[in-house]
Amino acid sequence: MPDIIVCGAGPAGSVVAQRLAAAGARVALVGMDSRPSWEGLSARSRALLIEAGALPGEAGFGRETDILVGPVARRGIWAGGRVVAGTEWLVERSRLATALRALAISAGAVHEPDLALTATRSADHWWVRLRSGKVLAAPLLIDARGRRGPQRRGPCLLSFGQRFRTPATGRAGTGIGVTDSSWCWWAWHDDLLWVQIVGQPRAGHPASWLAAAAAQIPALQEALTFAVAAGEPVARPAHARLGLGHGDPTRWQVGDAAVAHDPLSGQGIYEALRGAQLVATAVQSLREGGDALCAYRFVADRQDEVWQRGVARAAEFYRELGERGAFWRDTAAAYARLLPEQAPLAQPAVAPRIERRPVLVEGRILERDVIVTAQHPRGVWHIGGVPLASLKNYFDTAESATIAGAVAALDRPQAAVVSAIHWLQKTGTLLRQVPPNVSSGG
Ligand SMILES: Cc1cc2nc3c(=O)[nH]c(=O)nc-3n(C[C@H](O)[C@H](O)[C@H](O)COP(=O)(O)OP(=O)(O)OC[C@H]3O[C@@H](n4cnc5c(N)ncnc54)[C@H](O)[C@@H]3O)c2cc1C
Repeated sequence: MPDIIVCGAGPAGSVVAQRLAAAGARVALVGMDSRPSWEGLSARSRALLIEAGALPGEAGFGRETDILVGPVARRGIWAGGRVVAGTEWLVERSRLATALRALAISAGAVHEPDLALTATRSADHWWVRLRSGKVLAAPLLIDARGRRGPQRRGPCLLSFGQRFRTPATGRAGTGIGVTDSSWCWWAWHDDLLWVQIVGQPRAGHPASWLAAAAAQIPALQEALTFAVAAGEPVARPAHARLGLGHGDPTRWQVGDAAVAHDPLSGQGIYEALRGAQLVATAVQSLREGGDALCAYRFVADRQDEVWQRGVARAAEFYRELGERGAFWRDTAAAYARLLPEQAPLAQPAVAPRIERRPVLVEGRILERDVIVTAQHPRGVWHIGGVPLASLKNYFDTAESATIAGAVAALDRPQAAVVSAIHWLQKTGTLLRQVPPNVSSGG
């Protein structure tokens, strides 16, 4: 019987399964092959994939693999005619998912090439019924099914993707452009072209979007010259979403199932992989006897933060193009409504304070006293290994506080203690001056 069932074998599900299996857990990974499509990868997403072992390391830079091509030039026109120029890597999504799944299997996860139909909890176990009729049971369940399930949703967006064959060019690159009612990303590699359009589902049939987009974006029109559709079009939900935290540390969410970003961010894979690593650490922490609720809260806080950041960025992206029409204004407004109310400007600054929060300590999630400031609402536990709350307490309570005394009390190197003192002073947590090795007074 497995210890953990992971439902969904996309990038996030496979990475969390691989990490937990490598740490000794018996993992069942449930999921089918995904449909082929292309996406763009930033340098930091690619670095994470190299770290996960899914891509060759720096020796592979600029090289083609069957998963990745790049770096390729990205060109486009954005708000006010601003030219977008940069680089990215092209990734074939189904091959990436297969490679990550293979890593999970080689770490010991058992792959069930199936769909999970239901998951129910009884007798301290999750019971997952698969489409084949097989039933899996495990104490822990990880939902990695992507953008589905109960959720706090961003604006309703749909993506329509189509692959084309074109005359061979031997070149690769990507383009991005906007229309009055959608935005469009396209990528070409030799004789293949992938076009993806994101808009509101009610704005006509997605198949008509392509002609409308080509009519408004000359570079796309040019890319489509002599292009012949190859394969079925792929429709994908593209709404941002925040999974509903269940407050139940036997049931976790990871990747898009936890936090899905607007695809315009271009950082979905990065966040999915980072989130998978975080959940693997939390689950491993509780398997080793750590406090389950503490680990759960640690993950939930970070997922919420990633969601807020993504929503703010998306609101800004769409607002920039507000003059292009209702699609842009409505989408920006829908994102803006998800942002927390701004605090009134006149509100007095909150003084730095000590709070008990879950933090990461050598791969385990434990509660520690942290310093919470307006700039660091999540709290900072240590600087260079010096616990900040203990340092502040030392200066608040020692009769005759000195740097040397702090070094002795905390048993940390002097240089690290001095850096930590500077941090406390800079943030207004420690108001007094502490001259080097001189008593600061009691
Ligand atoms: C249109 C669009 C364009 C995007 N472009 C980019 C981009 O250019 N760059 C980027 O970094 N990110 C991009 N993203 C985001 C990126 O695709 C996701 O963030 C990433 O795929 C999340 O990985 P995941 O494993 O959480 O989810 P997914 O990749 O969605 O994987 C979930 C898996 O679970 C499976 N599944 C679902 N239900 C079940 C079930 N009941 N049982 C078993 N399996 C199930 C699905 O079939 C799928 O294989 C884009 C997203 C969209 C929608």
